[in-house]
Amino acid sequence: MTQDELQALRSDFPILAEKVYGKDLIYLDNAATTQKPRCVVEKMADAYYRYNANIHRGVHRLSQVATEANEQARDEAARFLHAGHRHEIIFTRGATEAINLVAFSYGEAFCHEGDEVVVTVMEHHSNLVPWQMLCERKGMKLRVAPMNEAGELDLPALYALLNERTRMVAVAHVSNVLGTVNPVREIIAKAHARGIPVLVDGAQSAPHMEVDVEALDADFYVFSGHKVYGPTGIGVLYGKERWLDAMPPYQGGGEMVGTVTFERTTYNELPFKFEAGTPDYIGSVALAEALRYVQRIWLTRIAAHEDALLRHATRRLLEVDGIRLIGTAREKGAVVSFLVGSIHPYDLGMLLDKQGVAVRTGHHCAQPLVDSLGIPGTVRASFALYNTMDEVDRFVEAVKRAAAMLQ
Ligand code: PMP
Repeated sequence: MTQDELQALRSDFPILAEKVYGKDLIYLDNAATTQKPRCVVEKMADAYYRYNANIHRGVHRLSQVATEANEQARDEAARFLHAGHRHEIIFTRGATEAINLVAFSYGEAFCHEGDEVVVTVMEHHSNLVPWQMLCERKGMKLRVAPMNEAGELDLPALYALLNERTRMVAVAHVSNVLGTVNPVREIIAKAHARGIPVLVDGAQSAPHMEVDVEALDADFYVFSGHKVYGPTGIGVLYGKERWLDAMPPYQGGGEMVGTVTFERTTYNELPFKFEAGTPDYIGSVALAEALRYVQRIWLTRIAAHEDALLRHATRRLLEVDGIRLIGTAREKGAVVSFLVGSIHPYDLGMLLDKQGVAVRTGHHCAQPLVDSLGIPGTVRASFALYNTMDEVDRFVEAVKRAAAMLQ
């Protein structure tokens, strides 16, 4: 990406011109949520202003336009993930709801007492707690795959956990704490060899790399719109038709039904079976705009740009006295977690904030992982397509200043 291209892209994001405490905002909390380009916000306003009407149920024109826009958004999401069928795309509130949907509904259909679910030590609470809840509900066992010191999954140990009782492997594509890119394709192939389906938590991969769910052969893949430059409150569950068809509805209500009588209700076909109630049809339309936005830039170019930022940040952070990088996997996404000496991550984060640098501190919703490392948390900088090398340099200078004050 040239400097001119980058500056042009930055001007798509009005918030990047904001000041924080009178300083230029350096926004490095992109793993938590990304900023929104003007086209996404304008798409939402346009939908509200020109064709807002509840979808699917109206005979009137506006409702038809809104319904079509929502279904075109589904097509866009299917294209984005290279899904085989549009009805394999379920709109949810986000990655969290998508995982809860699968854990509940797949669990109802396929899991029994004594069965097992395999997760990994680096899962976000969203890809851990729903499985724990399933295990509690059904009397099942949660098995946890370990990692090595660099933060790479111990694959032989993971594969050794797979057995005839395993009903699901749930794994993050990219760790939100360590940045590790997990070899999900290989994991899926190994699990499939034993007839075990795999859910891939794509919350941290969808914004940063080209994802092809069919090439991966993922059974389920989830992501959140707000991390891919889209709005909050909308996300995607991709599921293979054969699983989704065999799974019962997650929630009951309007639109997910066929016919309803007091005696018996039949359910709608896919994808509507899993979309009870009024969906976020404005969110879906804006999400589609965001997906078109990143595809116009090309995800491969975004990935290359972010990789350059990550390498530069890693190199420069190593200049900081007492730095300890948390997560040094060979394959890493746009996340760098670290500690400096014995400084508490929260104190460092506070002083970075005062210098206009937005990072995240704490356990990043992966408390078991952070506990297993015996640390109080990390400071995490995470990059997006609009970050610059200059911002990385100013961030590192801010870390040095903050550390000098605290040490
Ligand atoms: N999984 C991972 C790896 C994440 O980083 C996040 C968000 N921090 C989630 C799941 C949950 O996403 P959301 O809160 O948007 O549902």
